[in-house]
Amino acid sequence: MIVDDIAERPALEATIDLAAIAHNVEVVARRSGAAVMAVVKADGYGHGATPVARAALAAGATDLGVATVAEALALRADGITAPLVAWLHTPTTDFAPAVDAGIELAVSSTRQLDRVITAAAHVGETAVLSVKIDTGLARNGVGPQEWPDLRDALAKAVADESIVLRAAMCHLARGDEPEHPLNDVQAARLDECVRELDRLGVAPQVVHISNSAAALARPDLSRDLVRAGIAVYGTSPLPEGYGLIPAMTLSAEVSMVKKVSAGQGVSYGHTWTAPHDTTLALLPAGYADGVPRLLSNRLRVQINGRSYPGVGRICMDQMVIDLGTDSDVTEGDRAVLFGSGADGGTTAKEWAATIGTIDYEIVSGIRGRAQRRHVTSAVSGVPEVRR
Ligand SMILES: *Cc1c(COP(=O)(O)O)cnc(C)c1O
Repeated sequence: MIVDDIAERPALEATIDLAAIAHNVEVVARRSGAAVMAVVKADGYGHGATPVARAALAAGATDLGVATVAEALALRADGITAPLVAWLHTPTTDFAPAVDAGIELAVSSTRQLDRVITAAAHVGETAVLSVKIDTGLARNGVGPQEWPDLRDALAKAVADESIVLRAAMCHLARGDEPEHPLNDVQAARLDECVRELDRLGVAPQVVHISNSAAALARPDLSRDLVRAGIAVYGTSPLPEGYGLIPAMTLSAEVSMVKKVSAGQGVSYGHTWTAPHDTTLALLPAGYADGVPRLLSNRLRVQINGRSYPGVGRICMDQMVIDLGTDSDVTEGDRAVLFGSGADGGTTAKEWAATIGTIDYEIVSGIRGRAQRRHVTSAVSGVPEVRR
């Protein structure tokens, strides 16, 4: 149960359980056998980067990871002092404030390295770097063709004392297929790059490969650290759940309850027609808030512990629920759209499966009128971690 200590709740609320975040960090640490970097990019996958970062660090995470320098600077501005790396840059990214704020920069090209060195000289501080190596994802990271140049430039920059090389990292293309041979190929390629750096006398202090899926299912790929995103937020990217607890609950106040007669079409296009006299509930949540329109006529919500179907088109701001003929739901009751699933309710992962996407997209897409509230649940409901 969520500890609910405020009387007035927003009409549409994303409740974030920081006890679940802490529990999930512990699960990842135990399964991976490595230090945990909590990935809090995209505002903590829609959960709020700073509160999630604090909860994850308190639960034993050692590092934080984000995509952009702007995201990293926002965490520093909120007083987060933990090791923090940003890995996605553009030719106009200003590295100087990042170096000044002690943010580790993962570089993917010699151009980026040169610009970080220039920024560090300008600020008058040594930049702490990671090198991000493309071992097979073919997305960000230095590719095999440019690697020898970047490797040698890194060695020179370390020798010049213009940078410290803290880490070498790569990202898996098929981490969510734990047994796929590409995972081992990618790990072997990274290990080889690390050996090359070592031979040049600039071995990185830390090596990391794994995302959530690999952290949970392939502990043999854990090097010094795993970069866990979605698992920290409580879902497993694999069929097995690993005892993770979804941290976000999306709930809405029932705005209106009204009776309609048999044969009444509901919402735009009348895609659903009441088969008998029934009672409808209106919820102030729509696709502008991140409820996918594709879930029209394909979702269920829980109100007062009972499950009811969503009917008719999901609109920009609102959606309709069929309460049937014997419901006690009244205006002002609270509907849970998705949550931990513990009480038989729907999860974001189920929404994603229904419409052919992943829950990363669902939770990071909650927006609009949804207001976030951070709570800490009583831990008694947290299941024991399975090793
Ligand atoms: C987003 C991201 C992660 C986290 O991935 P999850 O699947 O959410 O654990 C890890 N590493 C990099 C480079 C990423 O961009």
